[in-house]
Amino acid sequence: MSLAHYLAVVKGKRLPLWWRSKFLAVPDNFSSLPTEQLWQLHDELTKSLRTKKRGNEPTQQAGKSSLLDLKIELTRRIYRSCTLCPLVCRTDRLNGEMGRCGLKADAHVFRDGLLVSEEPFIVPTHELFLAGCNMRCKFCQAWEGIVRTKLGFKLTGSKFASAVELKAKQGALNIHFVGGEPTVNLLAVLVSLKSLDLPLPIVWNTNLFATDEAMKLLDGVVDLFVADFKFGNDECAQAVGGVESYVATVQNNLLKASQITSLVIRHLVMPGHIECCLEPVVSWVAQNLPKVTFHLMLNYVPDWKAWRDKALSRRLSQSEKQTAKAIVKSKGLKRVLISE
Ligand code: SF4
Repeated sequence: MSLAHYLAVVKGKRLPLWWRSKFLAVPDNFSSLPTEQLWQLHDELTKSLRTKKRGNEPTQQAGKSSLLDLKIELTRRIYRSCTLCPLVCRTDRLNGEMGRCGLKADAHVFRDGLLVSEEPFIVPTHELFLAGCNMRCKFCQAWEGIVRTKLGFKLTGSKFASAVELKAKQGALNIHFVGGEPTVNLLAVLVSLKSLDLPLPIVWNTNLFATDEAMKLLDGVVDLFVADFKFGNDECAQAVGGVESYVATVQNNLLKASQITSLVIRHLVMPGHIECCLEPVVSWVAQNLPKVTFHLMLNYVPDWKAWRDKALSRRLSQSEKQTAKAIVKSKGLKRVLISE
């Protein structure tokens, strides 16, 4: 999907998907259903959000259960033996066990601010940096929220609502979840949305290293995916990002994200990773999602553990920047943004 859905929400011509989920009624006894039936109900209702032409008409009576409640219940069940991402820890996060993302059930916002330096159609944007991540990119610029997952304030409905209302008054166009990785914080985000009475679009700034179940839960919540396609092959993903089976997972989820809602794909060009990462990433996008907005990021800065990696311990050279631009141009992508 192009940016049309997201832009229509920003202009007030459509309601955000999470808002519609919040007001789409489900039977009050839904939480007694077995998980398989709950998924069936979830999938049918989520699909109906997309098939309704305008979708501006809330159907929920005050006090009744909604599709958002159903998503919360499914996420809770997943947290009991966590499979939200391909690391499949199977830890009981509701019972105080910690997954490889460093998280139990709670979420912490380690930075919160109004930013103007992102893609032009999302700024000014209210970014909430959520602690915890399922990847360990050596160059991570948000590493303080990866190693200290209780930094900042605990995400609760009331704190979230007051933070969003304040930033909206200051001009924020959207609510922008970033990390770390927002998907590994899904339960706290969904619960917090219940307390919010402001229909702003949700931007989900993600590594898309997520399972099918997580992608289904995000469907009907996210209005714009800003997705990093970081590595062009599994060897680099393992060596630099610390995860296995990366490429197929992310490609699959990019295709899904493009069917669910609006999508922007980012690629941060890493020094020494032009042929192995940038080239295959751009080729795949050009072949599979040629109309999607592609953001080529040439502003790599070594951080965290990058200093220990010979290739990653420097900025991009001018010749690498020129080569990166030439590769993107040669593949014929329709919508390209470049930041240096
Ligand atoms: S979200 Fe966290 S706990 Fe769940 S599978 Fe991924 S790394 Fe493990």
